[in-house]
Amino acid sequence: MTTRITHWIAGRSWSGTAERQGEVYDPATGTVTGRVDFAGPEVVDEAVGAALAAFQDWRNTSVARRTTVLFAFRELLNARREELAAIIVSEHGKVHSDALGEIARGLEVVEYACGIPHLLKGGFTEQASTGIDVYSLRQPLGVVGVISPFNFPAMVPMWFFPIAIAAGNAVVVKPSEKDPSAANFLAGLWREAGLPDGVFNVVHGDKAAVDRLLEHPDVKAVSFVGSTPIARYVYETGTRHGKRVQALGGAKNHMLVLPDADLDLAADAAVNAGFGAAGERCMAVSVLVAVDPVGDALVERIKTRMAALTVGPGSAPASEMGPLVTGAHRDKVTAYLDSGVTDGADLTVDGRKHPVTGEGTVGGFWLGPTLFDRVRPGMSVYDDEIFGPVLSVVRVGSYDEGLVLINGNPYGNGTAVFTNDGGAARRFQHEVEVGMVGINVPIPVPVAYYSFGGWKSSLFGDAHAYGEDGVRFFTRGKAVTQRWLDPSHGGINLGFPTNQ
Ligand code: NAD
Repeated sequence: MTTRITHWIAGRSWSGTAERQGEVYDPATGTVTGRVDFAGPEVVDEAVGAALAAFQDWRNTSVARRTTVLFAFRELLNARREELAAIIVSEHGKVHSDALGEIARGLEVVEYACGIPHLLKGGFTEQASTGIDVYSLRQPLGVVGVISPFNFPAMVPMWFFPIAIAAGNAVVVKPSEKDPSAANFLAGLWREAGLPDGVFNVVHGDKAAVDRLLEHPDVKAVSFVGSTPIARYVYETGTRHGKRVQALGGAKNHMLVLPDADLDLAADAAVNAGFGAAGERCMAVSVLVAVDPVGDALVERIKTRMAALTVGPGSAPASEMGPLVTGAHRDKVTAYLDSGVTDGADLTVDGRKHPVTGEGTVGGFWLGPTLFDRVRPGMSVYDDEIFGPVLSVVRVGSYDEGLVLINGNPYGNGTAVFTNDGGAARRFQHEVEVGMVGINVPIPVPVAYYSFGGWKSSLFGDAHAYGEDGVRFFTRGKAVTQRWLDPSHGGINLGFPTNQ
């Protein structure tokens, strides 16, 4: 039995018949569990139409009322997070605690958006000129699109839509076709929270749905998260159609370990950040830069920890790492194990040999944690974003050599330094060309009131996600200059207004 997963438009499930569908898997068993409808342009138009129809009333709804709906959504999401986590595990494969973690980080943004009355406050200058006051407003854009990747089916959409909705916009979400059900669950919660029909819509599908969102004249802004080639395409196409676009792309996150670091802390961090969610995180550590002479000691500690990891179905409480999302992705990641060896890297731990613990897992999309040592730029395991449980160790002779390596990488999403030297850490945060920096913290995803975003090929556009950037992205500013009649109005004057 497979379930049908369909669009959510104007507060209800879509009742049409899809021309195309995609398969959704349980990655732990490899079985097809669902078929998701793919939207063509006409379905996207229906969703955008519903959003546009809902927008006028929603933007005119008081900030107090909008906030009440946000609070209700927050309470429902918090109360039902176990259900959502189970949905995520069943389609993505990550372990249950990790799914709860992504929901918690999404909730943070919902809570931030509950502060929208404060976040939308403008400025006011009394008597900017004689008898004239000036003030600023922030107003919603209209219909906005959110296009998300497979790896965080709940958190990444929640980086955007709570703030967009709180600010008075109407939203069309296009989730990843690989794990589409979380977005529908969230749509149901919005309805229960009292959000008017049409303010939050979900269309499922692939490039065809994305392309229609990018060209639709009524879509005013697009927030995208995914791989760098598609992020670049979405940014270029969306802006060409006159939209505001923020497009977050891929990553190759380096963790620099200085000789004075606590090596046990660093080894724990490398394993947690390298293999959590099977490396399918945009903030995963994929390159460990070991400054001489710590390489050997660090690799030994990491190997010991890797051997003890329990790999198994995400739904099993004992599992620490689940499968990869699809068979095709597992095969692509596994191919890097061969190309790494061909390129001359040391395959220190081969994840193909790691045991999988659990019943019925034979057909699942498994690959255990893998470690390459003595990796260098120019090797495909270094140059490419692998997005799997593959950690590469690069050995360097000095801090400066490590910094040059990191700054020379085309990506600039996250990075971390491990050291007990505050001066070295401070120098690193000052000199490194990366958007998010951890100091003895391996996955430095900023809290909701700071913004999330990388540099270079990890982000296209000007605005980072959530935080103050998010509020700015989903609103546009208006400046008002006002004068109320008084006895001193000044008569005809064709000169350019100056302030006196
Ligand atoms: P992806 O680029 O394949 O897909 C992302 C979205 O784009 C999906 O909704 C997909 O349906 C759509 N899409 C795919 N191909 C398209 C095309 N040709 N034209 C238009 N739309 C298309 O990414 P993914 O595999 O789902 O997710 C993994 C990637 O996302 C990794 O590269 C990861 O680093 C990145 N990511 C980045 C961040 C970040 O914050 N920078 C966060 C999470 C994931």
